[in-house]
Amino acid sequence: MTTQTPSERIEAARARYGDRLAILGHHYQNDAVIHHTDIQGDSLELARRIPGLTAEHVVFCGVYFMAESAAALARPGQKIHLPHADATCPMADTAPAQKVEAVLDELREQGRLVVPLAYVNSSAEVKAVCGLYGGSVCTSANARVMLEWALAQGDAVLFLPDRHLGENTANQLGLSSGERLRVRLRQDEPSVDYKKLPYARLLLWPGSCAIHHMLKKQDIEAVRRQIPGVRVVVHPECSQSVVRAADSAGSTSHIIRYCAQAPAGSKIAVGTEVNLVLRLAERHKAEGKTIVPIKTMRCTNMAKTTELRLAELLDNLEDAAPMTLADDVAEHARVALTRMLDICS
Ligand code: SF4
Repeated sequence: MTTQTPSERIEAARARYGDRLAILGHHYQNDAVIHHTDIQGDSLELARRIPGLTAEHVVFCGVYFMAESAAALARPGQKIHLPHADATCPMADTAPAQKVEAVLDELREQGRLVVPLAYVNSSAEVKAVCGLYGGSVCTSANARVMLEWALAQGDAVLFLPDRHLGENTANQLGLSSGERLRVRLRQDEPSVDYKKLPYARLLLWPGSCAIHHMLKKQDIEAVRRQIPGVRVVVHPECSQSVVRAADSAGSTSHIIRYCAQAPAGSKIAVGTEVNLVLRLAERHKAEGKTIVPIKTMRCTNMAKTTELRLAELLDNLEDAAPMTLADDVAEHARVALTRMLDICS
């Protein structure tokens, strides 16, 4: 039986594999895991890096849709691994591909050319549907650019699965409430109000991230009372009222920049996953910046990847089953992802 710690086992595997192994980590991973990663980033930054990676084994410390996107963009023969097979995303699960396709067909039968735009937090099958129906994918960092692009491709856009990101991005583009329609998922009624459909330009899937949805406008008011002079920055997966109450809103990379560019001595309250907030607090402590979470919001699925899980995977990497996608799913998901990467290059 090995007496090595998980950390030592991970470093031993890295030494064994050398350039044949690359470990990627999403910003929401805990510090013990992030410490072992070669590349850290948000969904867009990590997706951009995949086509350039030459390592035979790519370990993706994040949740399943990220590893699926990596598998769609991987080189032939490259193996993508997810340390914890059950690291899912409940928001992504609110949009099953068959339902998305059925809604698109129904809306097109009503005479509207509806183009799907999936937040990257969606399954590979959903991304494949987007590729097939002339749509694409977006991240929180490029949602505005991608929504503008998608609106120019047809009569309306089906934005899924995160209604908050859709609403916040629509606000940036100045879309009126009359141009937005909420999709309904009940079996016994049409997926939207047909009377309003001719005026709709943005159809919003009714999903949301339970982690960011926890944050309320009252939490921002409370932190402003507790810390006079605090600046507030939140993720756009938060509701519109939270985004309006904040000083700034944007992707994880925006939040990282916001904290880095704030003057020394700043007080900043951040509304996103707590692992990232605590890392930023530590990083900028020496500059006299006080960075605190508005609320302790922890993604239990991101937390499933632990140092021990990573060590167990790397101990048995040759025998581990890599992420696989059906050929047609991989092909069409790649079309949707590549459109995004080309538009935002
Ligand atoms: S933070 Fe929210 S959107 Fe991200 S993986 Fe967790 S549940 Fe999904």
